[in-house]
Amino acid sequence: MNTKSAGQKIYDELSYKKRNIFEESTPEKLKEIYEYATGYAKFLDVAKTEREATASTIEMAKKHGYTEYKIGDSIKAGDKRYLNQHSKSLLLFKIGDGDIERDGVRIIAAHVDSPRLDLKQVPMYEDSGMAFLKTHYYGGIKKYQWTAIPLALHGVIIKADGTSVEVKIGEDEGDPVFYINDLLPHLGQKQMTETLANAISGETLNILIGGLPYNDGEVKDKIKLTALSLLNEKYGVTEEDFISAELSLVPAYKARDIGFDRALMAAYGHDDRVCAYPALTALFDTEKSKYTTVVILADKEEIGSEGITGMRSDFLIDVITEISLALGKNPRAVKSHSKCLSADVAAAYDPNFSDVYEKRNSAMLSCGASMCKYTGARGKSSTSDASAEFVSFVRRLFDENGVIWQTSELGKVDAGGGGTVAMYIANHNIETVDIGVPVISMHAPYEVISKADLYSAYEAFRAFIK
Ligand code: MN
Ligand code: MN
Repeated sequence: MNTKSAGQKIYDELSYKKRNIFEESTPEKLKEIYEYATGYAKFLDVAKTEREATASTIEMAKKHGYTEYKIGDSIKAGDKRYLNQHSKSLLLFKIGDGDIERDGVRIIAAHVDSPRLDLKQVPMYEDSGMAFLKTHYYGGIKKYQWTAIPLALHGVIIKADGTSVEVKIGEDEGDPVFYINDLLPHLGQKQMTETLANAISGETLNILIGGLPYNDGEVKDKIKLTALSLLNEKYGVTEEDFISAELSLVPAYKARDIGFDRALMAAYGHDDRVCAYPALTALFDTEKSKYTTVVILADKEEIGSEGITGMRSDFLIDVITEISLALGKNPRAVKSHSKCLSADVAAAYDPNFSDVYEKRNSAMLSCGASMCKYTGARGKSSTSDASAEFVSFVRRLFDENGVIWQTSELGKVDAGGGGTVAMYIANHNIETVDIGVPVISMHAPYEVISKADLYSAYEAFRAFIK
């Protein structure tokens, strides 16, 4: 029989060990995890940009009885509302049964923008039998990863008269896709000696959009004219309309299971829809709670959370203030008792790149949602560093609710670093800690997560707001 020695028993009791969720899952639980991931994959495929995530979340929210709220509207007990922040970020709130001055508000903050290539304001040109669009990349990308893959064009054009058209090309089976040229290896001798950072420059990330000349001998840029006339035909736009457009190139990939056992899933933009989706579903699946709950799907996290739709904007605090005043409570007292999970992805330990990770303190795939007490870089710079007391509070909450979770930090101390929105919320006197799903190949056009960790995040968020 498998009997443990006395010392082994004590060791198991006293030592910290990460737990692989799959190893502990019953067949029923495994089925639940896989089924939940199917819903997530559908969300990924319709929500590749922050605008699409906002729009599709509003649809989901309406189905769950949420109605639109604008700052200044009246609020009452039991309300389920959403604030559409300029179509690019979304704040949902549900008024709980309890006393918000005593219990504060429970906040889960995720983001729905992902690294991508944005079009410049005057993007279109023609050269040597091809027409292109110039881009300016958004967020931290490895530029070489974006060449020679199928890309889809997503976004919105606001025309001169103020009307808008939505653009989405490259997602349907029969659609054309877009493309960034790369150099053939035969002529790549010098390119191959460049660093990864320099081999492809920002001004090389030009989108190939066509090759058919317009049938008119007089015109100089015939292929560009073909493209412009097709856009005019389909959307009624001119070249000048690009100036008031937000058009982005994203990978034209669908979310797919990875591997023989389908335990892992690849997709564009897991960062940070893999936290946004569990936050949303946790909110929708929690019927009654004493806590007033806020879920934020923010924009602009990938470029520093600045601007009116980013987490540094006042809109979160304005809504908490409005809720407090509407219920006759002191907003400052409410904030001081509020608690926030900053829900963003973690870097999963990758044995292929083990030299940049410190294994004991890395997020391990399939060991659950990962709590990060602090993020930051160069000696905890730019992080909120949650208090031991708050970490203990969250830890107990998860343990009491049977959530398998883990702790982590982002790689080796001197390897680099990064951060997310936790500090911007904590700066408002709201206790905040980072928690999120570990990701392999973060910020690549196709990222990988474990379905077990996705489900763990859902369970963790449910425990937090129930
Ligand atoms: Mn993120
Ligand atoms: Mn990111």
